[in-house]
Amino acid sequence: MVDGDIVMHSMQRTEILDRLTESDPARLEDLFHRADEVRRQHVGDAVHLRGLIELSNHCRRRCIYCGLRAGNATVARYRMTADEVLGCATAAESQGYGTVVLQAGEDPDLDEVWVGDLVRLIKYRTPMAVTLSLGERRLEELAHWREAGADRYLLRFETSNPRLFRSIHPPLAGQPHSRIAILRILRDLGYEVGSGVMIGIPGQSWDDLADDLELMRTLDLDMIGVGPYIPHPETPMGRHPRRWRLPADRQVPADEPMTLKTIALARLLCPRANIPSTTALATLNPANGRERGLQCGANVIMPNVTPLGYRKAYEIYPNKACIADSAQACNHCVLWRIAAIGRQVGRGRGDSPNRQGRDCSVSPTQNGILL
Ligand code: SAH
Repeated sequence: MVDGDIVMHSMQRTEILDRLTESDPARLEDLFHRADEVRRQHVGDAVHLRGLIELSNHCRRRCIYCGLRAGNATVARYRMTADEVLGCATAAESQGYGTVVLQAGEDPDLDEVWVGDLVRLIKYRTPMAVTLSLGERRLEELAHWREAGADRYLLRFETSNPRLFRSIHPPLAGQPHSRIAILRILRDLGYEVGSGVMIGIPGQSWDDLADDLELMRTLDLDMIGVGPYIPHPETPMGRHPRRWRLPADRQVPADEPMTLKTIALARLLCPRANIPSTTALATLNPANGRERGLQCGANVIMPNVTPLGYRKAYEIYPNKACIADSAQACNHCVLWRIAAIGRQVGRGRGDSPNRQGRDCSVSPTQNGILL
């Protein structure tokens, strides 16, 4: 639909803000419908599945919103062995998934060589794409993993408001690059680059969320993950939300309609990105949150393939959807939900159409990133 093209490329800030604050049911339906149409035109009806492996819950950061933060003594810490990760990757392949996502807390003991060897092994033994989501890592590590064969990297910028970001994600000494700078470096390294934000985190204003969406467009993201903020009782923000929360008329709510509006706008602004319908959305609405996300612009689902024994300990927020479901049960549930809304499961790796065609053939040492 030509109309969709005009909307996404020229959408002005005032329009983004109007849509974010929209509450009229008919106009919301119109927004969701347009996002669904743009999704269909640019990335098609296939829903790509990514097997999520939560390989370590150790973390050196003290993000005030996340249950894995260092200092939360109530978490039983674990780090999977390479064999365990490979077993999960093989299971993901046999479920028919085209990608595995290796996600963890920011765990320095997942070192450069160990992760590089693991990526190489997965790429050698399976045809799957490998996505990493291991936090803010040194440039040498990111370059090494790319050369080992990693295809994609996920690092949410969480909020584009620098003051809010610093207050929820205290900086670590010796880390010279901001998340946004790292996203640009990942792109130069040739990764498919994914980022995103939490919706409704205390302190996030409507203007902040509009800025977030504009930044997604400026960064030309290949993948965009957005999900509602869910309070964790063992975190400073979960215990004392009033310290950060804005007056009611300025604070973005952390609810399902807000998440669907943000997914829809992300689709209109970044039509060729891969956009997951997230677990956090399914946690708010277990009955049909996944489907609603897919019907408002999303085209990816990330079923969990982490061994059941570790699931509970990867508690970034409480009551996570699917926490007690085996990899096989998650697979069945997801397939059923996709079929129920008349969509098909994607075949192959499901690379981002946005990344295709970008010239990323220059090696990291050639282009000066590591000099
Ligand atoms: N260590 C990695 C992975 C973090 S977990 C990294 O920092 O990138 C993945 C995402 O979960 C985070 O980027 C954050 O956006 C989200 N998350 C963390 N705590 C959350 C909470 N309480 N509610 C909702 N989402 C949360």
